[in-house]
Amino acid sequence: MTSNPTPASQATGSAATTATTTSTVKAAADSFASLPLPPATLDNLKRLGYEVMTPIQAAALPLALAGADLIAQAKTGSGKTAAFALALLANLNVRRFAVQALVLCPTRELADQVTQEVRRLARAEDHIKVLTLCGGVTMRPQLASLEHGAHIVVGTPGRIMDHLERGSLNLEALNTLVLDEADRMLDMGFFDDITTVAKQCPKQRQTLLFSATYPEGITKLAAAFMREPKQVTLVERHAASKIRQRFYEVKEDERLHAVSQLLNHYRPVSTLAFCNTKLQCRWLVDVLRGQGFIAHELHGDLDQRERDQVLVQFANGSCSVLVATDIAARGLDIAQLEAVINVDITPDAATHTHRIGRTGRVDAEGWAFSLASMDEMGRVGQIEHELKFVAEWHKLAELTPTSKDKLLPPMATLQILGGRKEKIRAGDVLGALTKDMGFAGSQIGKISVNEFSTYVAVDRESAPLALKKLSAGKVKGKSVKVRMLES
Ligand code: AMP
Repeated sequence: MTSNPTPASQATGSAATTATTTSTVKAAADSFASLPLPPATLDNLKRLGYEVMTPIQAAALPLALAGADLIAQAKTGSGKTAAFALALLANLNVRRFAVQALVLCPTRELADQVTQEVRRLARAEDHIKVLTLCGGVTMRPQLASLEHGAHIVVGTPGRIMDHLERGSLNLEALNTLVLDEADRMLDMGFFDDITTVAKQCPKQRQTLLFSATYPEGITKLAAAFMREPKQVTLVERHAASKIRQRFYEVKEDERLHAVSQLLNHYRPVSTLAFCNTKLQCRWLVDVLRGQGFIAHELHGDLDQRERDQVLVQFANGSCSVLVATDIAARGLDIAQLEAVINVDITPDAATHTHRIGRTGRVDAEGWAFSLASMDEMGRVGQIEHELKFVAEWHKLAELTPTSKDKLLPPMATLQILGGRKEKIRAGDVLGALTKDMGFAGSQIGKISVNEFSTYVAVDRESAPLALKKLSAGKVKGKSVKVRMLES
């Protein structure tokens, strides 16, 4: 291993400012077909609707596929997962049934998202097994899965360490190590764990490090175990092009009500509302629910199961507003967020960027609304100064309801008491609803199978009937207990 205290500063593929160029020359360079990928992979990408590479993919993939170690600056929503997933899949020998790639993630939610994306991309080849190993769940099923073997492991550093110490995970055949959201793993105190894991990997391997920011620890990590890494830096593109920011001046007693005014005016299907304190979250959820919105709070006091439940409902379109503090929203990766509301102005410009960057993802535009009182004007000024933009101010009086109907989410969630433990698979539930109970596939949304529960999103109007039929019918030949989650 070469110790290289300053990573190669060669900035490659920088200054990609937008993913939506129409120039034919650019389109060709942005096409996945310009990469040395097998035809089956290219076909699969087409099926997934990935037509052009995102800027981070265009910058990172040619280098990664050529075998270089990379330090890439990318955040959630940039398409970074596919950037490293395609590289690790290219290094994979499917016939060799041993762990050849390890992806370390800061949180379980991110690990689950990464696993899903890797599985989607791995579909081009048969029988690639991807395993998630995270803390917060019991060891035993993980040990059993490891005994069956896997090609790719995605997990959180603490749990991966546990498995290495027990000898249940063997990294001798590893050829790709990925650190996803490395800055957040460092924030969470995983420096030593990451270095220990890296030391147990073969020296001959490719290491890919993805991080939204470059704190000092990143250079240290790179120096500790990367080989002449190339650096890929991208200019932020979300601020200007995809996110429409609007600021509203509010008096303190108007603030919470202003959130419902925004919702009734813009009618976003899904909104993430940030408050600076837990108490403010609580109050806002009470106000919103009082007005008939379906809103949930994400806070640190929820246990893992409750947190999963809230996130499932938000991700599957059964909850209109998720209210969270910055800490509670850590590790959240939600595609298709239409709006972010800064209920309070954060004192920190980087946090503001992080919050609003959650909307306006890859192929969608997003709204970012900020409510500011006179006392917060200094903070807004600071954010404008640091992020080099001029806030666009609007008046609360402009926010008139644009429909007579209540804003409701399109789906509702049914919880089946029974999950992976009972060997329920998404296909079993979909089959029961469509084949046995006469629902159309279009009435059924996301089906998430967790360890003990299965969550099924059903078109809001059909949900009561689906509840009745599922309760009376069978899944996999067995009666099941079902309930509709509070909405
Ligand atoms: P990520 O930043 O990896 O979390 O990706 C954000 C979202 O963009 C995911 O839902 C991906 O499935 C999607 N995505 C990634 N690459 C592309 C692409 N080239 N074209 C369209 N969507 C993409």
